[in-house]
Amino acid sequence: MTTPKDLAERRAAEAERIALALARQKGERRENLKGGEGTVAWVTEKLCIGCDQCTIVCDDDAIELYFKDMDSPLLEVPSNRKARILRDPCTGCRLCVLACPTDAITMIDR
Ligand code: SF4
Ligand code: SF4
Repeated sequence: MTTPKDLAERRAAEAERIALALARQKGERRENLKGGEGTVAWVTEKLCIGCDQCTIVCDDDAIELYFKDMDSPLLEVPSNRKARILRDPCTGCRLCVLACPTDAITMIDR
C-alpha cells in the first residue's frame, strides 16, 4: 500500500525531474523572463486547468489550489481546480511560469 511517506518521496522526485527538465528545455526563456524580489507571480484564472504542476515546482509554498465551478456548460463536472498565488511567500523565482502548460502564470511587479 502506498504510504504518505512514499507519496512525499515520489512528489519530491517528480519535482526534481520537472525542475531539471524545465531548466534544460526552457533555460533561455527563463533568462528573458522578468523575475526576482520585485516581482510576484500572477495566475490568469480562465487559463488555469488546475493541473497542479505549479504547486509541485514551487519550493516556497506560495501557490494554493481552490475549487471553482466550471464556466463551460458542455462539461458536466461540479467543480474545477484553479491555482492562486500567495503574494507574501512568493520569491519571484519564475519556476511556476516555466512549469505551467497553459501559460496561465505571468510575473508582475509587486
Ligand atoms: S514565482 Fe516561484 S515562489 Fe513565486 S509562486 Fe512561482 S514558483 Fe512559487
Ligand atoms: S500549472 Fe498552470 S494550469 Fe496548472 S494549476 Fe498551475 S496555473 Fe493552473
